[in-house]
Amino acid sequence: MKQTILGKSVKGKEIKGYFFGDEKSFNKTIIIGGIHGVEPQSAEVCELYIDEIKNKPFPGDCFLVLIPCINPDGIELKTRGNANGVDLNRNFPSNGWQSIPLANNSAYYPGVKPASEPETQIIVNLLNKYNFKKILAIHTNHTIQFPNPPMVNYDGEQSRELAEKVSAAIGLPSHHDIGYPTPGSLGCWIGKDLKKISVTVELDDTKTVSELYKKHGVMFEVGVVN
Ligand SMILES: [Zn+2]
Repeated sequence: MKQTILGKSVKGKEIKGYFFGDEKSFNKTIIIGGIHGVEPQSAEVCELYIDEIKNKPFPGDCFLVLIPCINPDGIELKTRGNANGVDLNRNFPSNGWQSIPLANNSAYYPGVKPASEPETQIIVNLLNKYNFKKILAIHTNHTIQFPNPPMVNYDGEQSRELAEKVSAAIGLPSHHDIGYPTPGSLGCWIGKDLKKISVTVELDDTKTVSELYKKHGVMFEVGVVN
């Protein structure tokens, strides 16, 4: 395991990446937590997984970059967006990126332009550097406007198989549509535009981190080896 600083947040906090396995491996995965600052459990389950595997042998022919917390300012401020008030999951450079937040709700403010935020740029740079096979984003179903049940969501038909494997392993339903438009989301960009595998896990916001990890922690290994 190698830990590096991938970049800094708007407020200058270090954003850490944890690298596992051989980067020459074909099966390359990115896992991202803490995209929304109001969903701290999504970062904490990633930390528990790092603790569990850091001293163990990593599966052969697999490479993982794990970013437990891409939005440390949002976590500190307890806001969905980053320190600029930008919803990072509406700031990715997808074809359908929109400058107007969904339903004019500022919680979904997408920023002044696609990938305007340093946190978003970290992911864009990783995508440009490595030829990743798949991305898993870990969220909770914290309600802003639309209450979602906990689920495994995926973008693009190429993502269905992995979503169904994760779904079967962790006991949450798999669904291809979260129920409302998400222009500029990671899933739209990776799954719909780049046609890579993009799976989003929405964990139950009412559960503690240890409960979530015990019930669903296997999602990490399933995401890595498949
Ligand atoms: Zn979220």
